[in-house]
Amino acid sequence: MDWVTAARELAATFALRAPEHDRAGSFPFENFADLRAAGFFGLTVPERFGGAEVPLATYLAVLEALARGDGSTALAFMMHLKTFGQERDAPSYPPEWLGQMARGALEHGYLVNTVATEEGLGSPAGGGLPETVAIPSGDGWLLDGRKTFATLAPVLHYFIVLARVPVLEGETPRVSNFMVLRTDPGVRIEETWDSLGMRATGSHDVVFDGVRLSPERLLNGRALGAGDARGGAGMAWFALGICAVTLGVATAARDYAVTYARERTPNSNRTIKDYPGVRTRIARMDLLIQRSRALMDDACRAWEAGSSEGMPVLNRVAVAKIEALNSCIEAVDLAMRVVGGVSLQKSRPIERYYRDVRAPLHNPPLEDRALEMLARSALDEPIEPAGPAE
Ligand SMILES: Cc1cc2nc3c(=O)[nH]c(=O)nc-3n(C[C@H](O)[C@H](O)[C@H](O)COP(=O)(O)OP(=O)(O)OC[C@H]3O[C@@H](n4cnc5c(N)ncnc54)[C@H](O)[C@@H]3O)c2cc1C
Repeated sequence: MDWVTAARELAATFALRAPEHDRAGSFPFENFADLRAAGFFGLTVPERFGGAEVPLATYLAVLEALARGDGSTALAFMMHLKTFGQERDAPSYPPEWLGQMARGALEHGYLVNTVATEEGLGSPAGGGLPETVAIPSGDGWLLDGRKTFATLAPVLHYFIVLARVPVLEGETPRVSNFMVLRTDPGVRIEETWDSLGMRATGSHDVVFDGVRLSPERLLNGRALGAGDARGGAGMAWFALGICAVTLGVATAARDYAVTYARERTPNSNRTIKDYPGVRTRIARMDLLIQRSRALMDDACRAWEAGSSEGMPVLNRVAVAKIEALNSCIEAVDLAMRVVGGVSLQKSRPIERYYRDVRAPLHNPPLEDRALEMLARSALDEPIEPAGPAE
């Protein structure tokens, strides 16, 4: 199966649907139906469950291809795909749950994502304690709380929920991940997502109101501040997936600007591509995009080879994320300048690319934390693997 070609074909259809979903902030259910029908729900699922188990590099190429058509669909779908990639590289959930999620994806079209962020907590990568709490009750747990930024909320079946759990006085606070199903009584989606960019990701709030969980719903736990069980795999699949989505959006903007520059001939005898300013900007866009892709590919190869030669592999991932995001934002800004005043028109996709390309800035690893990783490596001591991705 040529997954990348298949993704390109789907992306062409998604591009036609993207303006309306962006305008309405609606969820592209039909894109996910198409992805399911084409077999993409099992893309990263291990082969032993019937999945395609594609390598990290193919996952990235697929995400980039999808994002050229619709950044929102690519970003939202990434949340599902990365779960299996991370588990393949660093199992952190009980094997029975991995099997259930894999079979759910392949047989029923069930999607999974981690819902960790909260209004008060912000990003859990900041090291805070969630307000969402799981209290022991009977032989299981009682879950209460609210999560924000729950991407894929309109279609998620498996919610992996980060919650604090009670500890004795004086003990280090603890957090755990719980498996919550969409069908569990007390789970409610509140349609709060109305954002500047990535408007069609369905990243709504999810409320857990006295949700009763049996003991096997506890996936894992750790002391607050201790390393996440996914270790570096959490960061590699997440951060590089973000790079790929961002690259896809920036490349779509670049292609739009290049086509425009080749065709646009104002009431003069020159096509705008002949103006030195336009030529320089187009060249610089290619430089920025190529630099981003090279860094992403370099980090991907290092992760797949388990190589830290020259630089620790997770530092390479951090470098790729920081550079790809900033370079892609700059490239889309240049594309806007090439196209000129009409780039601001809502009727043109470049206006959406300009907004979408910014959103992944706020997905982990955040720039300050990534820079701190590099500084610690250079100035202090060997670093621990990064914390939780979401
Ligand atoms: C499109 C999109 C989809 C998302 N999908 C999901 C999802 O599916 N699941 C999910 O759980 N979350 C999701 N998120 C949320 C995301 O992972 C972050 O948790 C969220 O954006 C809030 O992060 P923040 O850093 O802005 O928040 P805050 O933690 O409030 O941070 C605010 C600012 O302070 C800085 N800061 C905070 N703590 C530190 C620190 N310790 N060191 C240095 N600087 C710090 C941050 O860098 C930031 O600039 C999504 C976000 C976006 C934009």
